[in-house]
Amino acid sequence: MDAQSWLEADVAEVAGVTRAAATVLRETFGVTNVRELLEHYPHQDKYRDVGEQVALKDAAVGQAVTIVGTVLRWNVFRARKRRMTIVKATVADEHGGRVEVPFFNQEWWPRRIPEGRRVAASGTLERFRDTLRLKNPKLVELSDQETGPVADRVQVTYPATEALPSHRIAKFVAAALDVLPPIPDHLPDALRAGWGLLGLDAAVRTIHRPPDLGAVEPARTRLVYDELLTLQVGLQRRRQRLESRALGLVNEPRTDGFAQALLDRLPFTPTASQSRAFAELGADLARPKPMHRLLQGDVGSGKTLVGAWAMLTAVDNGRQAVLMAPTEVLAEQHLRTFTALLEPLRRGYAGSRAPGGGDRPGADLFGGPRLELLTGATSAKQLRGLLAELAAGTIDLLIGTHALLEERVTFADLGVVIVDEQHRFGVEHRKRLRDKRGHAVDASIPDVLVMTATPIPRSLALTVYGDLDVTVLDELPPGRQPVHTEILPTGSPRRQRLYDYVRTRVVAGERAYVVCPLVEDSNLLRVEEPGGGDRSVASAETTHARLAADVFPDLTVGLVHGRLPAAARDETMEAFRDGRVQVLVATTVIEVGVDVPEATIMVIEDADRFGISQLHQLRGRVGRARARSYCVLFSSASEDNARLEAVAATTDGFRLAERDLELRGEGSLFATRQSGLPDLKLARLAQDIEWVARSREDARGLVEEDPDLRSFPPLRDEVARRYGEERLAELEAG
Ligand code: ADP
Ligand code: MG
Repeated sequence: MDAQSWLEADVAEVAGVTRAAATVLRETFGVTNVRELLEHYPHQDKYRDVGEQVALKDAAVGQAVTIVGTVLRWNVFRARKRRMTIVKATVADEHGGRVEVPFFNQEWWPRRIPEGRRVAASGTLERFRDTLRLKNPKLVELSDQETGPVADRVQVTYPATEALPSHRIAKFVAAALDVLPPIPDHLPDALRAGWGLLGLDAAVRTIHRPPDLGAVEPARTRLVYDELLTLQVGLQRRRQRLESRALGLVNEPRTDGFAQALLDRLPFTPTASQSRAFAELGADLARPKPMHRLLQGDVGSGKTLVGAWAMLTAVDNGRQAVLMAPTEVLAEQHLRTFTALLEPLRRGYAGSRAPGGGDRPGADLFGGPRLELLTGATSAKQLRGLLAELAAGTIDLLIGTHALLEERVTFADLGVVIVDEQHRFGVEHRKRLRDKRGHAVDASIPDVLVMTATPIPRSLALTVYGDLDVTVLDELPPGRQPVHTEILPTGSPRRQRLYDYVRTRVVAGERAYVVCPLVEDSNLLRVEEPGGGDRSVASAETTHARLAADVFPDLTVGLVHGRLPAAARDETMEAFRDGRVQVLVATTVIEVGVDVPEATIMVIEDADRFGISQLHQLRGRVGRARARSYCVLFSSASEDNARLEAVAATTDGFRLAERDLELRGEGSLFATRQSGLPDLKLARLAQDIEWVARSREDARGLVEEDPDLRSFPPLRDEVARRYGEERLAELEAG
């Protein structure tokens, strides 16, 4: 048998794997074959040097040891007051020594390993009164003959369940490795040697059964690089193939068109970041290859202008452009922004020849480009007209929501597609929009720009978004003051002063948000009160009632949350925007993109219920103009909350994203797999940033030189096996 066929073998063929165990492996861990078993890696931070296997009589106090012996008895102690249970095994070794093995709050031990069983007990030996005892103990059952995993000086811990504990998985893995022939290495020698990496076979064996703690890291590094490299090679190859096949459009930026006129007539100067974005996008748009770019910028960094410029460039080339937003409120806000941006174009060119596109039916000679909105709220009658005009090409710019994705929406000649706040949309949505170009025209693919305000560390963007090119707006327009952020205990006496302050500001024409985690009070989501008892996590409805009746009876207090009808929500947002509503109580429905420049105060109740990126997005709703803005995070957590501390410490979205990665791991940055996060078993992007960059460079080099990997058949096969065409299509961000 060669290594590959054993790796492909059913996990039930591994010695010791019962039918029941195989079921748990499959259902809980997705492990069906030997390869997947070996990719079920031990917890990185739970490798433990259990010391040498010794007889008690030869062991010294303070030493890390493993004792092989029999469980004589279990004793159980309950310390009621401290809500603690201690179970204690007494283990007798084969040379007459005795040692106690205590566990805290793990009452199931006597059931897992009953009296009389043979065990290996590991830990640091200490003396307690006149008995010997193991500190931080680990207890593993042995079969009668075996010396078993105790032969391993380093013990590992696998992700496990009660039905299939770690020590059993360790046995399966050991059994699988015992009969595994040497695995051939698929990495090109030059890369492996260049980075000084272990061979594949050694790495796989070592990560499960390291001879000592120092051996773990090199094994891990090799496997991390392997995962990242194969992924990157797959993505690069796919991109190359798509690019050589796909026809793009030439959307050449022109100096005599609407796009340039937009910039000429701005009431402000673009930031250096925005100018860089125009240059990067411009080069993409002009190339006869599909643009495939991510525009990343913190809230308020001015992404809309960049998007508008790209859309107008399509119009200047005689084509149409579309922008898809995640909600109706945002689509309408974009419409307003675009209308304002386009206003000078209309006035400026009234009576003279319109720039760009003047020779096509869609360009309104005297009124600038034609802009329309299409959402779920568009009436059937309006919709009919819109659809006809879109298909005829008399609408230049279209802004909309999911409603754009409906089959009957087709364009005459779609040149540029913009997707705002893309993490709300699946990859599938983006494709559907792109495919609306109208194959009646030709088979080309429009230029696609994805805009996101979720600050993603670059390393992560490179992986999550595959080979999307990335443009970052890393500065805010001048004159913005960082939002002053403070954490206050929920019961703080300063709450009243805050309310007084809110009143002063609001009376002066500003606005305030009060955000709550829940829509209505809950019997399940409770917070303990400092004086005993508990209360519901703050809800928008109760908070609204309290503020409207007791705190701000003299002000208008509005309420928006996801359970209100969209029309009511929009109406309240509109009232808040123009000042009829002064204090807005809301849930996170206001999180993304809403722009009310007069809003200067953001109060977040039970802020510890939110994640870093949510808090950052929420805070981004204020500080959008020159006035000084404040954000108050009410917290009822008794301990310091690292997330709140981080948010209070900086307003830099990228720093916060890095911190979020550190605190939570990258998986949580993205709500679902849909986001296209590749299924990395071992690599941790926050921790392995360097290897992300290296593997990407290496993959680029390999694929540029040898697109079909003719010189590296083993690597080619490995990439195909891990990331076949379908899997890559899923990962690819467009
Ligand atoms: P984002 O979508 O990135 O959060 P917006 O595009 O909504 O940010 O821009 C936020 C605000 O900043 C808008 O009111 C916009 O008109 C303004 N703005 C954009 N670019 C500039 C600039 N270069 N100078 C001053 N204000 C700008
Ligand atoms: Mg925006």
